[in-house]
Amino acid sequence: MRHVVTFHYTLRDPQGRLIDTSTGGEPVNFLEGAGQVIDGLETQLKGVPAGTKTRLQVPAAQAYGERDPEQVQKVLRALLPVEGELKPGDQFRAGDDHFAPVVTVVAVEGDSVMLDANHPLAGVDLTFDVEIVATRPASPEELAHGHVHGPGGACH
Ligand SMILES: [Zn+2]
Repeated sequence: MRHVVTFHYTLRDPQGRLIDTSTGGEPVNFLEGAGQVIDGLETQLKGVPAGTKTRLQVPAAQAYGERDPEQVQKVLRALLPVEGELKPGDQFRAGDDHFAPVVTVVAVEGDSVMLDANHPLAGVDLTFDVEIVATRPASPEELAHGHVHGPGGACH
């Protein structure tokens, strides 16, 4: 049986630096088996009952993948869809579409920019402190749609 899992999380890198947290906001939820959370998290949350607070270690390979050196490329500044000055560390989407990958500026060299298209968390082992808020069987509609529905079964 596939479940809908609702949880709070705090995500840190191996140095203990805070990357992201849901604390102070709404908890997040996902439908099991729908690829909505990283593999390592989905695997380790399977069957964990509501009320559980635990720390999970997710290696990079089961999170955002290892870094790929071939994803670092030099491109002409004029071809980039961004206005204004670029500096190392800047991030933007590589295209107009919402699913275009986020790229990071590594260096600016004259007319060219060195871009890294690896996910910002590629190669990073992640630590999650999670609290399972609720878990329930997914409804037939949710399974058919492949996403979680809201209170009363509302599809968004
Ligand atoms: Zn739906």
